[in-house]
Formats: sequence, structure tokens, C-alpha cells
Amino acid sequence: MAFTLRRSSSFLSKYGQQVRFFSLHKLSEEHILLQKMCRDFAETELKPIAADLDKHKKFPIEQIQKMGDLGLMSINVSEKYGGAGQDYLSLALAVEEISRGCGGTGVTVSVHNCLYAKLVDVFGTEAQKEQFLRPFTKGTIGCFALSEPGAGSDVGAMSTTAKKDGDFYILNGTKSWVTSGSYGKAAVIFATVDRSLKHKGITAFLVPIPIPGLSLGREEDKMGIRASSTCNIILEDVRIPVENLLGTVGGGFKIAMAQLDGARVGIAAQALGIAQAALECAISYANQRQAFGQPIIKLQAIKIKLAEMATRLEAARLMVWRSAVAKDTETRSTKESSMGKLLASETATFVTHQCIQILGGMGYVTDMPAERHYRDARITEIYGGISDIQKLVIGDLVNKEYGY
Ligand SMILES: Cc1cc2nc3c(=O)[nH]c(=O)nc-3n(C[C@H](O)[C@H](O)[C@H](O)COP(=O)(O)OP(=O)(O)OC[C@H]3O[C@@H](n4cnc5c(N)ncnc54)[C@H](O)[C@@H]3O)c2cc1C
Repeated sequence: MAFTLRRSSSFLSKYGQQVRFFSLHKLSEEHILLQKMCRDFAETELKPIAADLDKHKKFPIEQIQKMGDLGLMSINVSEKYGGAGQDYLSLALAVEEISRGCGGTGVTVSVHNCLYAKLVDVFGTEAQKEQFLRPFTKGTIGCFALSEPGAGSDVGAMSTTAKKDGDFYILNGTKSWVTSGSYGKAAVIFATVDRSLKHKGITAFLVPIPIPGLSLGREEDKMGIRASSTCNIILEDVRIPVENLLGTVGGGFKIAMAQLDGARVGIAAQALGIAQAALECAISYANQRQAFGQPIIKLQAIKIKLAEMATRLEAARLMVWRSAVAKDTETRSTKESSMGKLLASETATFVTHQCIQILGGMGYVTDMPAERHYRDARITEIYGGISDIQKLVIGDLVNKEYGY
């Protein structure tokens, strides 16, 4: 690699804040450099192995380490703690390019950056950042454990408990669907100090892994993003020192929701990358495949499909970039993040579906990446808040904007 993120952050300090913001016409020079670096990395390090990672459910540990060296595992973490100090638009650009190379690797990078590193950066104390952030900026992975078998969209139904015992909290319960669970060296774990308080009892803890009483469930056998790791974390009388409490007692729900605004930028960017890969696959195939004596790209039906795919993708990309900039510049960006995630995830499902149609039979077999893109895209409509929940959030906020 010719340059690293750290070099582009010196570009930032030289040219000042205004270069951080994209205009509708073009990205800043700094963002273009980052985008190119990530594209090159994905092209050489991820794309060639993506099918193998998917087929054998392999976690790309070596590539994660390389991305750590490039600053891609701490994109918007403060430079003070070893991060690259970049904005959310940088995160969106990086995650899109990585996901274009491998959708499964995209979620590993996205969740670590948004739901672990940035979360600790924003809410951690100095001591917590020294222990749980600085060592996690170069490729060591952290996790985010909010969901449970009985509490997904309904976070308030959380049943994992945290009971105070002198200078410790004792955690008991099961967290489900933990991304990078088998590889994480720490997790932000949410538990309730009082179930009757519902959301107001939820509290966040920084938990090192391994630790006595914490065990991992089996790896989930997923439909897509199979290069990522997903498992349960089981907590049986796990003793956590009180200094590992993140934020305030009962403040965990607000932490999770605030951080999910950023995480939705990451998931939406992952969706864009998967869709972009599918669009490129479809165009390439349409130019090579002959039918009725000509390449199928000459057929109007194929051109119409490509037009719909490309147009929806461009529109989704603009919305995601808008949500990334809103996350950096506005007090709350919940509406924009939810709109970006909703639009980009549905676009990814649409574009990957159309890609399979354009490839015909070849779209349905693993010789070509189309079916993998389709499987990878599907999750983006589910995690980080399922589409129905995004619609509820957007509907409420729009209603409020109109004074109701
Ligand atoms: C591969 C993968 C990785 C994940 N990674 C993580 C992670 O790292 N950390 C983490 O904490 N979680 C993670 N998750 C969990 C993910 O965020 C949840 O699966 C998601 O929020 C949906 O929750 P659920 O699966 O319990 O579905 P449910 O909440 O049970 O939803 C089931 C159905 O009910 C509908 N529904 C529920 N409530 C409403 C409502 N109020 N109005 C309308 N419809 C509703 C939903 O739309 C859906 O159709 C991951 C999940 C997967 C599959």
C-alpha cells in the first residue's frame, strides 16, 4: 500500500475541516484517497478469496490484521487513543469498498468500528480507553452484545442480569448473535440491573474475553456473510469490576441507541458494497454472454434491468453519505441513519436479485459470485434493526417534524 489512513489524517489537519464534507458533486481529495486505498485492498486481498471464505466459513484473520495496520479497524476513533480520527463518511467509504470485496469481512470491520471501538471512544473513561480501546485499534477485535434469544427488536425484554456484589457486578444470561464472538478479545455487554425497569434498567459493561464464567455458543451456520463469525455468549456468574461499567447505571439503552445511529451507516455501506459488486458482475456477464447472435447487453430488457439497478444504487449511496455526514454534524441523525439503512439494504436485495436474473442459470450456481452477493445482501435488511423497526422510527420522527 502506498499510504495509510494516518497520512490522510495529516492531509486533514493541513487543509482544515471543510474538506471533511462531501458536496453532491464530488468527494474531498482525502475521501477519494481513502476510497482508493480500500478499493485496492479489497481487490487484491479480499475479492480473490471471498468465494473460498464463504464456502468454508473461514474468518479472514490475516486480512483483518492487515486492515488493522492500515488504520481500518479504528477509522473514526480519536487519534489520541491510536485511531485514525476520520469521520463517518470515511467509515462509509471504507466499509463499502471492503464489502465490495467480501460482504462477510465488511460486517466484521463495520461492527468492530461502530459498535465497539467508537462506542468505547465516546462513552469510556480515560482508564477504560487505555484498557479497552487503545489495544483494539490495530486488528484486535471487540464485540457488541445487545441481542438475546428473547430480546431482539424488543430490547426492553432483556433478561441478562447484572447484580451488584461489593466492588463487582455479577453477570448472568445469554447474549445471542454476537458478531465476531469467537474472535473478540472484549465485548460491550448489556445487562439489566432491574428487569422491572425495562429500558431504564439496561446497563453496559466492558468485559474482557476470556474471563471465568464466560463461554461461547456454537458458530451460527448462516445463509450469507459466512466469512464473519456469529455466536452466543453465555454468562454464568461472570464477575466484572465496577470500574468496567460503561456510562451510568441504567444508561445502557441510550448508549446502544446512540451508537446504532452510527452502526446503521456501517450496515448501509456494507449493503452498498455488496450491491456494487453485484452490479459489476451483471454488467461484465451481460457483455460476454451471447444469445440470439449478440451479447445480451444489446437486449433492451437487460439494459432496463441495469438502469434500475444502477439508479437505485446511486440514490441509496447519496442517502447513506447524507446520513454519514449527519452523524458527524448534527446532534441526532436517527432519521437519516434509519432511512439510509432501509434504502440501502432493500436496494442491495433488489440489485443482487436482478444480478441473478441477468446471469440466468449461471446466477444460481457457485461458479459465479451472484448467488453469494444475494445471500450476503439479505442480512442487511435484518441486523442493526430490522426494516419494520426502521420504518417505525422514521415514521415517528417524520410525524414529529410535522408538529404532531
Ligand atoms: C448474522 C447476524 C449478526 C448479528 N450481529 C449482532 C451483534 O453483533 N450484536 C447484537 O446485539 N445483535 C446482533 N444481531 C441481532 C440482530 O440485530 C437482530 O436479529 C435484529 O435486531 C432482529 O431481532 P430478532 O432477530 O430478535 O427479530 P424479532 O425482533 O423477533 O423480529 C421478528 C419479526 O417481528 C417483526 N417485529 C418485531 N417487532 C416489531 C414491531 N414493533 N413492529 C413491527 N414488526 C415487528 C420484525 O420486523 C420481524 O419481521 C445479529 C443478527 C444476525 C442474524
